[in-house]
Parts: sequence; structure tokens; C-alpha cells
Amino acid sequence: MRLSKYYLPTLKEAPKDADTVSAKLMLRAGLIRKTASGIYEWLPLGLKVLKKVEQIVREEMNAAGSSEVWLPLIQPKELWEESGRWAYYGKELLRIKDRKGAEFCFAPTAEEVITNLVRRDVTSYKQLPVSLYQFASKFRDEIRPRFGVMRAREFYMKDGYSFHADEESINKHYQEIYDAYVRIFTRCGFKFKPVEADTGAIGGNFSHEFMVLADTGENAIANCPLCGYAANTEKAEIKPPVYPAAKDLKPMEKVATPGAHSVEDVAKMLGRKPEDLIKLLVFVADGKPVAALMRGDHELNEHKLKALLKASELEKANEEVYVKLTGSSVGFAGPMGLKEKGVKLLADYHVRGVVNGVAGGNEKDVHTINVNPGRDFEPEIYADLKIAAPGDTCGKCGGRFTFTRGIEVGHTFKLGTKYSVSMKAEFLDEKQKSKPFIMGCYGIGISRVVAAAIEQSHDANGIIWPAPLAPFDVYLASIDADINPKVKETAEEVYKKLTDAGFEVLYDDRAERPGIKFKDADLIGIPHRIVVSTRTLEQNECEYKARTSKDTARWNLVEIAGKMKEAAAK
Ligand code: ATP
Ligand code: MG
Repeated sequence: MRLSKYYLPTLKEAPKDADTVSAKLMLRAGLIRKTASGIYEWLPLGLKVLKKVEQIVREEMNAAGSSEVWLPLIQPKELWEESGRWAYYGKELLRIKDRKGAEFCFAPTAEEVITNLVRRDVTSYKQLPVSLYQFASKFRDEIRPRFGVMRAREFYMKDGYSFHADEESINKHYQEIYDAYVRIFTRCGFKFKPVEADTGAIGGNFSHEFMVLADTGENAIANCPLCGYAANTEKAEIKPPVYPAAKDLKPMEKVATPGAHSVEDVAKMLGRKPEDLIKLLVFVADGKPVAALMRGDHELNEHKLKALLKASELEKANEEVYVKLTGSSVGFAGPMGLKEKGVKLLADYHVRGVVNGVAGGNEKDVHTINVNPGRDFEPEIYADLKIAAPGDTCGKCGGRFTFTRGIEVGHTFKLGTKYSVSMKAEFLDEKQKSKPFIMGCYGIGISRVVAAAIEQSHDANGIIWPAPLAPFDVYLASIDADINPKVKETAEEVYKKLTDAGFEVLYDDRAERPGIKFKDADLIGIPHRIVVSTRTLEQNECEYKARTSKDTARWNLVEIAGKMKEAAAK
């Protein structure tokens, strides 16, 4: 490809709202442009990388025995009502009406459509198992689109689904897909880790997230060095601590805490530690008020709270709602008397261990000291509501967690009969008995993979593509071709030779200064750089540099294809 004819608009500076290295570099290197919040255009260079990822995924999915299909972007409400998700999915689902007023949604995923597809065509155990996948755009109206294409609203995904007659069959295929994912992410050149996303409800390896390890990753991963359990901290089960019976309980007392509504301010004013405080967080879950109590130094995990409540929408109460529900101003509500106000009260396990603690006094500028759980308030339930953090112990074995960060690029999930039961997707078994399909689903965020690759591999000058994802193998530049016809002629020859040898070459034939060309070459991150200039031609040579190295080498032009093969094999 000749750069003079290619659409590759690079930028010196990233737009101000680019909030992570990969987003900045993808914008600067001309891979993407932003259309609207969480919605992007993919330019030729970006699309080329996306297609490389797609092809790797396609090859490995095919090898795992799955067949490619293409499903609709617009899905009818009726299917989503059958599964119960039209009501459940909440605001992430973008809903639309056609000219007749019929309701549809933009696909955020495709369980309903695929279950409907398979239930029509597959009626006997003899046709099972069935495994299908597609590449398609997904739309999810994320609350906070961020990190460029990593958490977008419209994104490109591989989603796969499988249908089985029994547990043995799904377990086998789940393992095949799991192994395919390991091959995919290995081929992408990633440092990655499959982590359990097991919530314990079904038990045993029923869901895995594939995490690309990167310090900038959105997900924190809790690892147990003792039993090997590794999970997203959003899901990591924490062992409930055991506390000795509390002694020396003092009588409750109200104290003035003017203007102190944060944990830090209150602790400082009263000469206490944050862990002595019981903080109260107010939410509205599916329209109903809920208060969650956490120890002052702990962070609430909204995913755990949402799962505990089985809520489809969980929103933090705004000031107006907070005041209305608690009868107190923000930062001063406490657990005492809250149930009587009709607010469901839940607490994290660690709250049980607070002795003579500090809680909101239920009036402005007042806190209550010597608050003791059990004596002064009783939550409806104690549960694991905490984001796993250093010091927490593994819910499986009690080992102490260590932490790393990652980007979730893939997800495998045993769905069981959730969709086949609700949508009556059944087959006849050997005994002619009707049974629901046992299902699995398997996603890979193809567009997120591109960003993750950059997040994991870049330097101050730009992207460093792992060879299998690189948009081109070789960046070839001519210097001073406009004033030296021999340079132009030779560069054209090199371009032809390398292309004939099977390399994808981006030929920078622009009449730009060397500085500009080299900056662009580093920014777009193609693994190998070859430069033809008047100086190198004096010895019938070209200059070679690997993107990962500072050093340059000279190659004889006669041997160029062989030399390039050697370099590419390294
Ligand atoms: P998350 O918890 O990050 O929102 P999810 O559980 O919603 O992820 P899945 O429904 O399992 O994600 O989607 C499969 C894959 O699609 C994910 O592993 C991820 O790589 C990708 N993905 C999900 N949401 C987005 C998004 N908003 N933008 C880009 N990729 C996404
Ligand atoms: Mg999501």
C-alpha cells in the first residue's frame, strides 16, 4: 500500500477527552475517530488490525467446531419478552420503534435470537450439539462510555452460542472453546490470564473471563496464591471475617460534627480511625429504596449489591431522594430508625465487627458515637458487599489475596437452561422425552482486543504492534525520492520485492521530511522499518530498524527479501 494513496490522518496531539494510552494512540495514529460518546469510526489502518484479530478468532472458533453465522442487528421485542429480558435489561438496551410502531432493540448480545433460530431447526438429540458464532456490531447504552473503544457504546464482538443435550456435552465444548480462547490470546501476543467469574450460585468453573494483564486495566484481579482462585475483584468472594463477642459496649451518644460529611472529615474531627465508622449508602433498586452499610474504610461493590438484590437497575440516590428517604442531609444519615422509614437495610459482613463505632446521627451536623450492630440496629441481612482489596482473604480457602490489573477481552459462560426454559427451546431425547437445551455463550470484544494490544505494548513514541496484529509487516520509506530518481526507482523495486515475497508493506512514498516520516512510523508501530536514501544507496544498501529496537542495521539490497524473512522469523 502506497501511503500517498492511503487514508492515514495522524495527529501530533490526542484530543483532550482521550482518557487512556490506547485511546490517545488510536486517535493519533489514525486508527479511529470519535463520532459521538462511545461511538467511533474505524479508519483503514484500524480496520486492518480489527480484521487481523477477527481472522485469528475465526480460525480458532472454526477449529473448535463452531460455525459462523450472521445475525440481525435489530431484534424484535417479542423475543426479549419471551426471555424476560425486555423488562430486566434496563437502560443499556437501546429500544426503537419501526414505522408501524412495533418495538425493537439494537442487539447488545444475541441469546434470544440464536435460541429462536435453533429451536425452529433443531428438534432431536441426534442434531446436537450445535455451536454457532458471529462477528457483529453490538450496541449497549453504557452509563459511562470511556477508554476509547474499550468501553464503547457501539463495539465489535464475536459472540458464540452452543446447544447441548447434556452436561457432559457442554462441559466438553466449554473446554474446547476455553482452549480456543487460550490459543487466540496467545496468537495475539498477549500476556493474559483466564480468571474465574464464578459467583458460586451454580458452582465450579461455570464462567471465565479472559484478562489481558495491563496496569491500566479497568478490572482489578484478586489472585489467591494458596488455591489458585483468581477472579475479578467485582466478583471475588471474600471470606466473612469471624469476630469475637463485643465487650464493653458504651451507651450511644450524639455529638456535633459541623460540616463533616466525609468519612475522613468525621474520623479526623472525632479523633477516630475510618474503620471505626459505619457509613451508609443509599440507592434506589428497581424503584425501591435500599441502604447499604459499609465499614468506613471499605468500598461498596455495586455489582455484589445488585446481584444480592436481584435488581436490574441500581442507582445511587441523588441528594433529593437521599433527604426524602432518610429525613437527614447527605452524609449524616445513620442506620438507626431507617427500617421504620421503609428503607431496606443491608450490611457488609465487616460491619458486624465494629465496636462502639460512629454512624450518622440522622440530623444535620450530628453523628452518633458508640454505635453497636445488633444492639442499636439490625440489618435485614449481612452479606459480602465489599470490593476485594489488600488484606482480604479468599472466599474459597482463606488464603490472602494478591492483586493485578487486567482488561477483560473475552468471556465464556455456561448458561444452563435459562433461555431454553423461558423460551421453550426443546428437543426430543433418546426416549422421545422433551428436554430444554443446555446452553453456553462465548464472547470476545474484538474492538477491545485492538485497544488492549496497544495498552499492553507501546512506548513514548507510539504503538508497538505484536507481529500477528500489525496492520502491515513492513514500513518502507524513501528519503529524498523527489530529488534523487535512483532512490525512487530503488524504493519501488524494494516495495515490489517485499510484496512479492508475501509481506504486507506500507510504502511511505510521500514527499515528507525524514523526521516526519520516522515519527509517523514509530507512532503507527509497524514491526519492521526499511529506509532507502541517497546515503544508503551509495553502498547499494538500505537501512533496517525493528520497532522494538533503537539500533539500525544496513542490509544489502540484493538480499533484501531473505533478510526480511529472517527478521520476521525472530
Ligand atoms: P463488562 O463487565 O466489562 O461490562 P460484560 O460482562 O458486559 O463486560 P460480555 O457481555 O461478556 O461483557 O461481553 C463479551 C465481551 O465483549 C467482553 O468480554 C468484552 O471484551 C466486550 N465488551 C463488553 N462490553 C463492551 C463495551 N462496552 N465496549 C467494548 N467491548 C465490550
Ligand atoms: Mg457490560
